[in-house]
Amino acid sequence: MPSILITNGRVIDPSQNLDRVTNLLIEDGRIAAYDAKANGQETVINATNRIVSPGLIDMHVHLREPGFEDDETIATGTAAALAGGYTSVACMPNTDPPIDSQGTVEFVRGQAARADNCNVFVVACVSKNREGKELAEIGQLVESGAVAFSDDGAPIYNAELMRRAFEYCLMFDKPVMNHVEIRELSEGGVMHEGLTSLILGLSGIPPAAEDVMASRDIALAEATGGRYHLMHVSTGGSIDAVRRAKLRGVRVTTEVCPHHFTLTDESLRSFDSNYKMKPPLRAAGHRKGCIDGLIDGTIEVIVTDHAPHAKEKKMQELDRAPFGIVGLETALGLVVTKLIEPGHLDWPTTLAKMTCNPARILHIPKGTLQIGADADVTIIDPEVRWTVDPAEFKSKSANTPFAGWELTGRAEVVIVGGRIKFDRR
Ligand SMILES: [Zn+2]
Ligand SMILES: [Zn+2]
Repeated sequence: MPSILITNGRVIDPSQNLDRVTNLLIEDGRIAAYDAKANGQETVINATNRIVSPGLIDMHVHLREPGFEDDETIATGTAAALAGGYTSVACMPNTDPPIDSQGTVEFVRGQAARADNCNVFVVACVSKNREGKELAEIGQLVESGAVAFSDDGAPIYNAELMRRAFEYCLMFDKPVMNHVEIRELSEGGVMHEGLTSLILGLSGIPPAAEDVMASRDIALAEATGGRYHLMHVSTGGSIDAVRRAKLRGVRVTTEVCPHHFTLTDESLRSFDSNYKMKPPLRAAGHRKGCIDGLIDGTIEVIVTDHAPHAKEKKMQELDRAPFGIVGLETALGLVVTKLIEPGHLDWPTTLAKMTCNPARILHIPKGTLQIGADADVTIIDPEVRWTVDPAEFKSKSANTPFAGWELTGRAEVVIVGGRIKFDRR
């Protein structure tokens, strides 16, 4: 494996509080040295006016394989991840069959190894067959490599099951990630319940559908000492519940998706199903709540909830179309354009939410450029202007509401384990 010297880049590594222009040397797949000089043997990447970051991590993606290969495969989803600047993703278990057995975990890891794009970490089911009845074999799943547990796609509905999930996962120091949604409140809803849903005559999903279960989960985490990760937070109420829980010392973390700090329910006036996702796009006050939560650190992770759906499924009437949008190839541009450019977050804080923070939650040895670490590196052009064209996506699906948007900032070179896996230059 040839050595790589990244020269003259602004190296930002929040895991070491590092932010300076330097040369970074990669040898044998690992971070070898700072301030290194060229010796003529290595591949040189000129990173002048570029940001050199630990490889980005997305701890919430749907790769759809096994079972839904019309929407995405592990090969296409990880290719999309690379194009978006990600060197690691954690995939959700709502596949068919669901990832609730050692065999399925091994299948996913095998497919990821064959695809040889980015690293894939597996989030396994909390309950057998994702039915919400019986706990999956947590210990065996940990043994086969599961890094966290979730029934995402659906909430962990039964409070007693949730409690036992916390207790079991605690034995292995794994987080329980929950998609919070009180079904009795969200039933039949296609968008956020509020003035816009009233005007459009569309059935709504009230913020309480999220807030109620978030509060329940926090109470159970507090009672058990379990590690709770609230997925795709979207309401001011649940963000505030997390904020207060953290002050009490509850082990809670949370994540937000770009669409929730970028868009509001007003977009549904188009009746375009690419604005339909769960949780739904909320009213402007909630969007502000997401941004405030990112600023004050209540929300420590940015994820995509990349949810590919084939065209024939997504391009239906609003009430029939499935929930979810793709996100891997637009996230970084949205983060730069909507969080960094307006001055809400600086680069180090932003990159922490996409590198070392998710690594810490999942306990994976990633998200750092310390000497000796795996050489997963993302070189970002922070100023390039580009237009989102779904026809160029590496993802198998193109269900995005951001087509035609002009964004700032994009991954230019992506290095995984010391090998250049993506190069836009
Ligand atoms: Zn979800
Ligand atoms: Zn999801």
